[in-house]
Amino acid sequence: MTTIQHIAAYKKPLDAFDVVVVGSGPSGATVARTLAEQGKAVLILEFGGLPSPGAALTPHQATFTKAVTYTEQMDGNPWTACCVGGGMQFYSAITFRYRAADLRASQFLESDMAIDWPIEIQELNEHYAYIEALLGIEHMGDYPLSARATRIAAAMSSLGYHPHPMPLAILPPQHPHGCGYCAACDSRCCPMGAKASVITRSIINDDGLPGSITVLYGCLVKRILQESEGQASGVECYIPFSSQRLRIPVAKVVCCSNAIQSSALLLRSRSSFAPRGIGNEHDLVGRGLSLKVSGYSIGSNRRWLKEADLAAPHRGAPATVYTDDFYQAPDMPTRFGGLIYEVASPVPEENIGHLRIHYLAGDEPWSHNRITLEDKEDEFGIPILRFQYRNTANDEARLAYLTARADEILREAGAVTIRHDRPMHRKGASHLHGTARAGVDPARSVVDPLGKVHGYDNVYVMDASVMNFAGNWNPTHTIMANARRMALALR
Ligand SMILES: Cc1cc2nc3c(=O)[nH]c(=O)nc-3n(C[C@H](O)[C@H](O)[C@H](O)COP(=O)(O)OP(=O)(O)OC[C@H]3O[C@@H](n4cnc5c(N)ncnc54)[C@H](O)[C@@H]3O)c2cc1C
Ligand code: SF4
Repeated sequence: MTTIQHIAAYKKPLDAFDVVVVGSGPSGATVARTLAEQGKAVLILEFGGLPSPGAALTPHQATFTKAVTYTEQMDGNPWTACCVGGGMQFYSAITFRYRAADLRASQFLESDMAIDWPIEIQELNEHYAYIEALLGIEHMGDYPLSARATRIAAAMSSLGYHPHPMPLAILPPQHPHGCGYCAACDSRCCPMGAKASVITRSIINDDGLPGSITVLYGCLVKRILQESEGQASGVECYIPFSSQRLRIPVAKVVCCSNAIQSSALLLRSRSSFAPRGIGNEHDLVGRGLSLKVSGYSIGSNRRWLKEADLAAPHRGAPATVYTDDFYQAPDMPTRFGGLIYEVASPVPEENIGHLRIHYLAGDEPWSHNRITLEDKEDEFGIPILRFQYRNTANDEARLAYLTARADEILREAGAVTIRHDRPMHRKGASHLHGTARAGVDPARSVVDPLGKVHGYDNVYVMDASVMNFAGNWNPTHTIMANARRMALALR
């Protein structure tokens, strides 16, 4: 049975749950479902509200995710979305599996932290398959190339590269419930359920589960409480709607609030038992923040304004073609990474007369890339975050290589001018990883390979915080597969 309610409207006892999960995004939803399949009663606490079909991302980005950045201003980006379903409600549905080398990146990249995952890729395979079935994406690869992707693919082929249809968690237009080409759907909640998400695929809302899932939204978890060594006793929450503070007892608590917010929650959970925060005995929580390196090349040609396919706005999936030719290209700096693919602007008209290419690669995780807490508090009484992030020379070189390859493809497609947009992520990004690293050595990692915080019996982290290397792909599929792997082992 599933209940999804504002916490202010929930009248039943809050001490009756086997497991409390913080965050209802794809990681939290996967953990909750996996446990409910085993008959457990799961409570998900979610700060954001319930997004309506067709909603845009911006109103679902919370002020509590703002952070002080290198500019000394509170101008850190509000990362992903703050709502039931998390960032997956608004994503582009790009759904790659990772490869073996993503879990063994130390052979290519440098870092002062543990960079290899403590598991092998084979341990994820059955969980990838489960998630693909759950999301109903047997149609992956069937989504037709957009008009712009067709041009990009032709240019890739003519340069000797290998274009492939993007694996998308979107029912293709030919399917009875398939995409209706309503918008350029990055940053939009699909109004017709064609795009797979926590809500549209009933990951949590499934009355066939032997256990139960109760999602209470409008509830910000401020900290995890402790009354004895190595044991969480409850969570302290704040309900902005009623300005109420609430203590909820926990038998087990799983942090799934993303790699910024989960580590912030652990850091906020200071007590006499954990003076530096839970799991932070070795000053590792929040370190190793990885956001990937990425950028956009936008090609233009005035002639394209007169050609019907490129003079029209873009509608439909924003990314329909990619090449992985550079994943381990011999002339790529470090010989490792990344992905090049079509990505349309989320504003349909902004694509008129342009071809737009995105490239990304997993960044080197260094301990100086981190989040910490300031002494000041925000309007919810939450310590403000400080966000420190910069890329290494290897990161820059890999990004420069990918930019050059994307530009080459655009020129081959006929672009006369090329503009670059390079976020460099010093104020945030939407792919978040690495702030509670996984391993067997408590001096080098925050959680064990199954997500349990070292030194704790009942505190877990099961989101992308535990990904030691961010991977050279879009991460959500792997976040979900890995969350399921860890949740299946939770006893
Ligand atoms: C516009 C956009 C496009 C994207 N496209 C893709 C794509 O095509 N493919 C891909 O793989 N990835 C994509 N992503 C990234 C993807 O959304 C994330 O990887 C994914 O959502 C991470 O899942 P998560 O469950 O770990 O965290 P989130 O989705 O961030 O969910 C965490 C949830 O926890 C809640 N929360 C946080 N702190 C607290 C607290 N203290 N108390 C209570 N609740 C809390 C938040 O409100 C949020 O709802 C995209 C992201 C965006 C924003
Ligand atoms: S373009 Fe298609 S998948 Fe995207 S929001 Fe619209 S109907 Fe949904």
